[in-house]
Amino acid sequence: MTELLDRDQVREHLVRPYTPQSSSSDQKRQIERIKQLLIERDATLVAHYYTDDVLQSLAEATGGCVADSLEMARFGSKSPSSTLVVAGVRFMGETAKMLSPEKRILMPTLEATCSLDIGCPAAEFSAFCDAHPDRTVVVYANTSAEVKARADWVVTSAIALDVVAHLHEKGEKVLWAPDKHLGRYVAEQTGADMLMWDGACIVHEEFKAKGILDIKRVYPDAAVLVHPESPQSVVDLADATGSTSQLINAAKALPHDTLIVATDRGIFYKMQQAVPEKLLVEAPTGGNGATCRSCAHCPWMAMNALDNLEQCLKEGLGEVTVDEAVRVKALVGLDRMLAFKSGR
Ligand code: SF4
Repeated sequence: MTELLDRDQVREHLVRPYTPQSSSSDQKRQIERIKQLLIERDATLVAHYYTDDVLQSLAEATGGCVADSLEMARFGSKSPSSTLVVAGVRFMGETAKMLSPEKRILMPTLEATCSLDIGCPAAEFSAFCDAHPDRTVVVYANTSAEVKARADWVVTSAIALDVVAHLHEKGEKVLWAPDKHLGRYVAEQTGADMLMWDGACIVHEEFKAKGILDIKRVYPDAAVLVHPESPQSVVDLADATGSTSQLINAAKALPHDTLIVATDRGIFYKMQQAVPEKLLVEAPTGGNGATCRSCAHCPWMAMNALDNLEQCLKEGLGEVTVDEAVRVKALVGLDRMLAFKSGR
């Protein structure tokens, strides 16, 4: 009886299965206007997995793409459109501009940033690198163009393990920034000697092992999918750990009917498309004291909306620029990553 009560309480407080949004007639009219603007402005919309469902579906419906940051930039650079609209956060717009300098890059808002980017200011990071000249500098894509310009390599979470394993095999010691949780995971998996910058993602850092164990009691047969920006205690509970695209692939590959997902809930749109027959459950954040059931949504990704998307297309607002000297330096690490990926 106690066990039953506990399970019900957990379900009530922590479990919120994914339900897709439906759009109102006003929203449908706005979507039609945006579709028309995309054609008139010769623009393609690329959206990150963590943006709102409605933006992801609009990107798909208009020949754009929904992807992780690396694939967004690669898709954008191959697009024949003269304008790319990047629905995501600032470093994604900058990466698109660095890979496609001839294109106009617009963002619904330039204020959408990332706690990892904010937590790694270029001047301090450069001094850190200067203090450790014997180390190969590897930075995560979630950094400013200036920080990338100081790096030997840029990596996304999809490719970080492979790149660091490669450097480790060559006997190189790594200076890693900015996400300490991802860095710890990579060091553990590869055995590489990694000196870490002390940064974190405010969304993934909130996942708690206790909350996931509680949900596992409700869904004992579920698999747990975890992004490696999460704390170690959460990664330790994972049946699959990986980047956004790797988690979607894991959702397909795993035999489980129910999946507890510890990453931004924006991923549920594409993940549910990939596994329509499976039940997706948001992993809780904040533990028992939290006032919300799950806060697993990036506040900066959430700044992208139909209103500011329409406005940016109409008025050409939110154009991303990158200093040419910075771009040329940052391209060294970006090009290495792209060449490494295509060489595998
Ligand atoms: S989810 Fe985390 S890593 Fe991604 S943009 Fe938001 S703060 Fe940055």
